[in-house]
Amino acid sequence: MAGARRLEGKVAIVTASTQGIGFAIAERLGFEGASVVISSRKQKNVDDAVEKLRSKGLDVIGVVCHVSNPQHRKDLVEKTIQKYGHIDIVVSNAAANPSVDSILDTSESLLDKLWDINVKSSILILQAAGPYLQKGSSVILISSIAGYHPQASMAMYGVTKTALLGLTKALAAEMGPDTRVNCIAPGFVPTHFADFITKSDAIRKTVEDQTLLKRLGTTGDMASAAAFLASDDSSYITGETIVVAGGMPSRL
Ligand code: NAP
Repeated sequence: MAGARRLEGKVAIVTASTQGIGFAIAERLGFEGASVVISSRKQKNVDDAVEKLRSKGLDVIGVVCHVSNPQHRKDLVEKTIQKYGHIDIVVSNAAANPSVDSILDTSESLLDKLWDINVKSSILILQAAGPYLQKGSSVILISSIAGYHPQASMAMYGVTKTALLGLTKALAAEMGPDTRVNCIAPGFVPTHFADFITKSDAIRKTVEDQTLLKRLGTTGDMASAAAFLASDDSSYITGETIVVAGGMPSRL
């Protein structure tokens, strides 16, 4: 519902939010009335994103947070509380896809990195934010269509995204009834992370043809789903994953 103000008075933390899907989610939550804490690894990216969002009249602060750094996670939550006093929405969006190797050829250090950034960091951020989450709060994990069908070139990344589907169910049980936990599984969205999609017209067309809607996803498509899950419009939905992938095959 573009133009709605469903999140007035809410405070949102969005990880990995200085560009791409995370940035679009932060922007949309801000337009819907939330105060938003954006973050990513690089100070300059954080400063630039804060400036862009403030120039649109949004209430935003920025904190440097590499999600696998314990001090950064602590800072993220502490600075949010210092400024706003509570937390209503956490969007855990950071991920890495450091290798195109097959699973059995992936080094132990890369396996650890994938687990660390793509799965464990979400848990640790929620452990840090948990004490400040309000009744009626909403947690959103960002998985991937690859979580349903881990393709060869991104197989282990896909498996970490499959883990988030289970994590969503488990956390929804653990954090209910006061906090809802849901997940978004994006299809292919041309961002820096997925720049291979637009490397050639042929690849782009192949990806578009995998969708029923014959187009790539946009960051705005993901932000719309996140705003819905963050808002009370989804107040009876928890433990679910919304696939936002133009009808790409996922599950029945
Ligand atoms: P993106 O446009 O490349 O943006 C990545 C953002 O993450 C940047 O702001 C980056 O800023 C930050 N970042 C990277 N590593 C980080 C870390 N370790 N800790 C904190 N911040 C970090 O990526 P995207 O495509 O929007 O992807 C966002 C999420 O969507 C990921 O979970 C991805 O798996 C998922 N997804 C994407 C697609 C797609 O087609 N794009 C499809 C399915 C799922 P810094 O460099 O400053 O850290």
